[in-house]
Amino acid sequence: MPTVFVSTWPDTGLPCVRRASESYSENQDLLRACEDGLIEVEMDPRFQAIGYGGLPNSDGEQELDAGIMDGRNLEAGAVCSVRNIVPVISVARHVMQDTTHVMLAGDQAMRFALSKGFKPRSLHSRNSLEKYENWRKDKHEAEVAHLVHDTVTIVGREDPGHVVAACSTSGLAWKLPGRVGDSPIVGGGFYADDEAGAAGATGVGEDIWRFMLSFRAVEFMRAGMTAQEACDRAVAMMVSRKPKTREHVSAVFAVSKAGDWGAAASKDGFVAWTSVDGKYESYEIRGAP
Ligand code: ASP
Repeated sequence: MPTVFVSTWPDTGLPCVRRASESYSENQDLLRACEDGLIEVEMDPRFQAIGYGGLPNSDGEQELDAGIMDGRNLEAGAVCSVRNIVPVISVARHVMQDTTHVMLAGDQAMRFALSKGFKPRSLHSRNSLEKYENWRKDKHEAEVAHLVHDTVTIVGREDPGHVVAACSTSGLAWKLPGRVGDSPIVGGGFYADDEAGAAGATGVGEDIWRFMLSFRAVEFMRAGMTAQEACDRAVAMMVSRKPKTREHVSAVFAVSKAGDWGAAASKDGFVAWTSVDGKYESYEIRGAP
């Protein structure tokens, strides 16, 4: 059965699944592959919604969120509202592996990162500074910011049925300082359980969190649905219970322990990239009917 990676959005999905897939060929380590895929995108300033060069909060500071989960044993690690450190996905992995906790927040998460050897740095690129200055001059851009989120989430699956989910983001652009979305929330932005499969999400964090889209999709797979059916059902519940969620793109995608994958979204516009046994493809996902 296939080795599968699925990740998010037109620009970031390919570098993420490609790096994950290469890392997997080198190390046969699924957790590390998902982490490596996210590091690749976090450290590249061209991508504005994650890591170095991500768009900042309304104070002009990047506050990063990340999380990772191992489907083998349900171990998970996450950080939220971390400033001046990249890659935060690796800090989340340290939380999972070196502590008994699931999440560390804010300056104390940064302090933990420093204790692990991470070095503080500015997360602004020329582009992120310019965009922030433009937004300060014309706050109507705030609406556009909803379209400029693009969290990078990845799920991975290897034989005989092991899954991992991981996620990294600078969250919604121009957010209130201290705001945390779904991305670092176990079950919100990501979830993995070898007994069912793994799922990840991207879009409006408040909606994804409210509906625990990733957990919901995994639970539907546990109940016997394919990954596609599970994603469709999770999004259908969200848009019918709260029709306003159709106004912006919120998406969930999943891979089952058997290796089939699927994705669904509240509105047209989501793109998923996959690597199936090292072959890369992108898919435009239609909004829920
Ligand atoms: N879900 C992220 C958040 O709300 C944003 C995104 O997916 O792009 O922080």
